[in-house]
Amino acid sequence: MKIVDVKTYSVVYPVQDPFSNGMRWTRQRPFAIVEVITDNGISGWGEGTTVPARRAIDLNVIGRSPFEHEVIWEGLHSQGTDTGAISAIDIALWDIMGKALDQPICNLLGGAFRDRVQAYATGLFRRERKDPTAALVEEARSYADQGFKAMKMKVGFGPEYDIRNVAAVRRAIGDDILLAVDANCAYDRGSAIAVGQKLAENDLLWFEEPISSDDVEGYIEIRRALKVRISGAEQLRGHRAFRRMLQERALDIVQPDVSICGGFTEFRKIAAMASANHVRVIPHMFGTAIRLAATLHLLANLPDSPRANVPFPALLEYDMSENALRTELAKEPIRHTEGIVTVPQGPGLGIEINRDLLTKYG
Ligand code: CA
Repeated sequence: MKIVDVKTYSVVYPVQDPFSNGMRWTRQRPFAIVEVITDNGISGWGEGTTVPARRAIDLNVIGRSPFEHEVIWEGLHSQGTDTGAISAIDIALWDIMGKALDQPICNLLGGAFRDRVQAYATGLFRRERKDPTAALVEEARSYADQGFKAMKMKVGFGPEYDIRNVAAVRRAIGDDILLAVDANCAYDRGSAIAVGQKLAENDLLWFEEPISSDDVEGYIEIRRALKVRISGAEQLRGHRAFRRMLQERALDIVQPDVSICGGFTEFRKIAAMASANHVRVIPHMFGTAIRLAATLHLLANLPDSPRANVPFPALLEYDMSENALRTELAKEPIRHTEGIVTVPQGPGLGIEINRDLLTKYG
């Protein structure tokens, strides 16, 4: 089996109700998708942050077997292809390998420790609302009503906003639901520690990206100062970028994103490094149905750590914001039931792509 073509799609979903994290407003959601086509009729789909240049594809991908995923990865990387673009190709190669072997990707990774994954609702962004606190409380209650046992809200908007709204959300959902907060790198060390001390009074599951993702010393300092798990690294690319974060235990939870860090091939290396350093892995996910399916296969394959009677849950980041490319790109959409999501069972990623949507948002 040889790769004969790679098609690239750049799609944009226009957000109807814009939302903000601690850094920026989101008014549109751009995604980079590739379709890798082989000579025996199997094609695979991948999602990254960008698509590779045609020349890089011609030199490193065309003519190779999809089973040469490491060789293709290194070839693209050595010629300067962005890791976010390699991610797209790599995910598509694993989709092809799974289809060729008639196995879901989680089996290629070594098998599924679970076929259902607990999801946490990612939402609770800042929006233009008359009464932002009331809106957040209502949104948080709606997630609890849908059966979610865990959710994450955005912070990083200054101490006054953060402390008031996290406390209000915690009061609204009660003590039994896991609540994480995410500052998207909007604080400096001093502010992160000062705000984090107050936020930690609300029994938080974790405090995500309090500061800039490359400030290893800053993360170490914050982790020592706060009585809450610190998470981050969703934007890091390539396993070496994770090295110091993991070796120096700058994080309690590392959150690689399969479409940013370098696909399945690189994610596995990062997960192995995390395991060696006793750092928990909970993947980041904020993309289309392709990234969602890929993340589910990775979650299926992540062992409990430690393998306790009542283990720390393997948690899927379940994006609740509007995005037709997540909810409609797979012909059979990946949905949650009472906050639980089933790992796709079909070969490869286990989803069939609705091509009309690529035209509609292309
Ligand atoms: Ca995040």
